[in-house]
Amino acid sequence: MEQQERVQILKDIINIDSTNGNEEAVASYLSDLFARHGIDSKKVQFAEKRANLVSEIGESGKRVLGFSGHMDVVDAGDLSKWSFPPFEATEKDGKLYGRGSTDMKSGLAAMVIAMIELKDEKKALPGKVKLLATVGEEVGELGAEQLTSNGYADDLDALVIGEPSGPQICFAHKGSMNYTVTSIGKNAHSSMPQLGVNAIDNLMLFYNEVEKFVASVNETSKLLGDFTHNATVVTGGNQVNSIPEFAKLQGNIRTIPEVDNAEIQSVFKKIVDRLNEQADVKLNLVWDYNKLPVFSDKDSSIAKLAQQGYKNKMGESIPLVASPGTTDAAEFIKAKKEFPVIIFGPGNAQLAHQVDECVDVKNYLDMIDIYKEMVINYFNQ
Ligand SMILES: [Zn+2]
Repeated sequence: MEQQERVQILKDIINIDSTNGNEEAVASYLSDLFARHGIDSKKVQFAEKRANLVSEIGESGKRVLGFSGHMDVVDAGDLSKWSFPPFEATEKDGKLYGRGSTDMKSGLAAMVIAMIELKDEKKALPGKVKLLATVGEEVGELGAEQLTSNGYADDLDALVIGEPSGPQICFAHKGSMNYTVTSIGKNAHSSMPQLGVNAIDNLMLFYNEVEKFVASVNETSKLLGDFTHNATVVTGGNQVNSIPEFAKLQGNIRTIPEVDNAEIQSVFKKIVDRLNEQADVKLNLVWDYNKLPVFSDKDSSIAKLAQQGYKNKMGESIPLVASPGTTDAAEFIKAKKEFPVIIFGPGNAQLAHQVDECVDVKNYLDMIDIYKEMVINYFNQ
């Protein structure tokens, strides 16, 4: 493919506004593009106007290398602050500007184009490359969750997530959990608190127990650092001279393999159960979001091939690192079989979700070549 066509494809998908939805338009664009090159793909509907896309090239029955990218983008924010319209991709001084240029339509387009070019060039692939393009990554990895529970990740032998990694390869990240605890009390006049039940006081009992547990955790991950807990949203009460009958606390936890999601869920449940044994305490705990930490093998062949591919193309070595943020990998690793994961894609994560988000065009084009070399070497090693 000509460089210009490669860039045009990226521009085309940036121009599709897929802010927290409308991913089906991106899926349709990619599926038409694949079809023009003789590659079949399948839409997996998530909701109205929202569909994941699964496509494959190569031979079945052998190893399967997964490529994954999300098709949604985050809100463009204050439009007046953008130098260029966020959904009209604009090229200037070697950079391509637009919402999703870095996070992560460049990674997605690079993977799709790598697959198309490998097919067009009739490269012998003793195995399959499988694209898993997802919906709703930014709001809960919804598409990855759906594809994994429907078995689409069960045949993977390795997975590359094309999120912007900068000049490095990520092989581990923390897990992420959100919870909501509600506390039900009883209204009363604040001059006669004995007639009521203070929902805020009871919620604080929970918070204090959680903080006690957090302080008692000594384990730390050499690579990922500490497990963290933060209360992030709190509401309760409605009148300053009334005993509140309702209070709610939400929090976010970043987990590490040493203090994992299952352990946290069990500790929190015990805290709530124990407190609910007290008279007048009525707490309810709900897990809103539960993403596992990803901790892959640093010496996996896919990690090595990514390092080698980058070095061959760019002439310099890049490190393997751990990062704090979660990705679709947190869902895909729930598949039946264990497989190594790397996060490796064009763009710079520090520009993600920002005004004037952009990607270096050369970086995007180079990554297509690097992906192609990784695929060929993966199946021929
Ligand atoms: Zn992303």
